Amino acid sequence: MDKEKLKKLEEKIRDEELIEIYKDVIKIIACSIIGAIIGYCFCKDNQYVPIKGILLGIACPWGYIVIDRISKFLYSYLEDLYHLVCLCTVGIYVVIWFIVKVYISAYVGLVAGPILAICYIVKIKKVWKKDYSKEAEGRYYIEYSNNIKRNNTFNRNDVVKNIDIPIKYEDEKYYCEMCFKDISEEEYELYECMCEECYMDIHTDEKGNFREDYYKY
Ligand SMILES: [Zn+2]
Repeated sequence: MDKEKLKKLEEKIRDEELIEIYKDVIKIIACSIIGAIIGYCFCKDNQYVPIKGILLGIACPWGYIVIDRISKFLYSYLEDLYHLVCLCTVGIYVVIWFIVKVYISAYVGLVAGPILAICYIVKIKKVWKKDYSKEAEGRYYIEYSNNIKRNNTFNRNDVVKNIDIPIKYEDEKYYCEMCFKDISEEEYELYECMCEECYMDIHTDEKGNFREDYYKY
């Protein structure tokens, strides 16, 4: 194996992981800035102390991460109850719940924000220190397989040794071309690259009949 190419691959894998983390951090910081502006404007309009609004606005996105995770966890247990309440309140509950979530998030974020920020720093430091040589070796034969086949000078044992390393493929995602919802591969193939609802919608004529040869748009 070419040592230089391996080193480059290691750097590439590290960069990929770092980019994912940085993306998250940038998203949160952007939300924090928006939160700070909203907090400031709100306090100015209502003659509160602006600094409090700014702080809560900054903290809100950080807190929201925690609150959202908790509510998703609860949702997995109380799904039926949630749907029932939504049905009874004609969906107003969803809006109210969102407002409550944002409100709680602002206060939770005051504590969770600094902790999460430290977690991100630790995470980034870990990625920098992590040894990616195994991953690089695993990917080496995928990235340079064409060259290897052409040169035919590789050491057979190297290949055999590396076959055991599981190769991580990014799972392919499919999206509905109408509403951009996540859909399964089967749905994608079955319903002309759409989700079932959009497919039914598009093929339903003015009289409400489903016709495969009819296109609404
Ligand atoms: Zn759709």
